[in-house]
Amino acid sequence: MIHKLVIALSKGRILKETILLLNSIGIFFKKKYLLSRKLILKTNNSNIKIILVRAFDVPIYVNYGVADLGIVGRDVLFEHNLKNLYHLTDLKISKCRLSIISKSNFDYLKFINSGLKLCVATKYINITRKYFLSKNININLIKLSGSLELSPLIGLSNIIVDLIDTGLTLKENNLIEIKCILKVSSQLIINKSSLKFKNNFLQSIFKIFKKNINL
Ligand code: ADP
Ligand code: MG
Repeated sequence: MIHKLVIALSKGRILKETILLLNSIGIFFKKKYLLSRKLILKTNNSNIKIILVRAFDVPIYVNYGVADLGIVGRDVLFEHNLKNLYHLTDLKISKCRLSIISKSNFDYLKFINSGLKLCVATKYINITRKYFLSKNININLIKLSGSLELSPLIGLSNIIVDLIDTGLTLKENNLIEIKCILKVSSQLIINKSSLKFKNNFLQSIFKIFKKNINL
């Protein structure tokens, strides 16, 4: 029996690389779709549909089973900690890192040894809380949704925990990377019941993944 398959992808910065990866395993869709505002895309395989959602929401669609598969950064996956999905494999694309960042003249070590409470702004509150707890460092956590770099510059926080790739934005804003806390790349995730009930169809897709991508 053939089952339909839905794959959730992040729109935005990692979409291009993700599409190239899907192309390499023979899944294509019309380019004009990307210029439109369509959110559900047909592919050359009538059994496979793509949905485009915010990066942070990809695991949620997969967790609730409305998407069978998803491609999402390890940062987002770790932040959510959802129960109805499996992490299948590291796709090794869209690499960056989640790091502690401060103003270039901030003395991080001196501050955390001073006993003062470190004020941290981030989008990744779970990862951040866990990290500082494991280091026994007391923090005040502020959740922001974007433009994190502004926060230490304007004095909202001492540091931020945010993604870095080239480090250009840091340089331009007089910020420095203190420490990387998570290496990030895109991950393939799957809904638990999809794996159970659509196993045959999925196995054939995994085979192509394995054959065409260096996993
Ligand atoms: P959104 O703005 O909706 O959160 P983006 O389109 O900015 O989403 O994509 C963010 C995701 O892209 C991150 O979760 C991460 O996994 C991935 N990514 C890869 N490289 C970078 C980078 N240099 N900066 C930010 N995110 C990156
Ligand atoms: Mg973004």
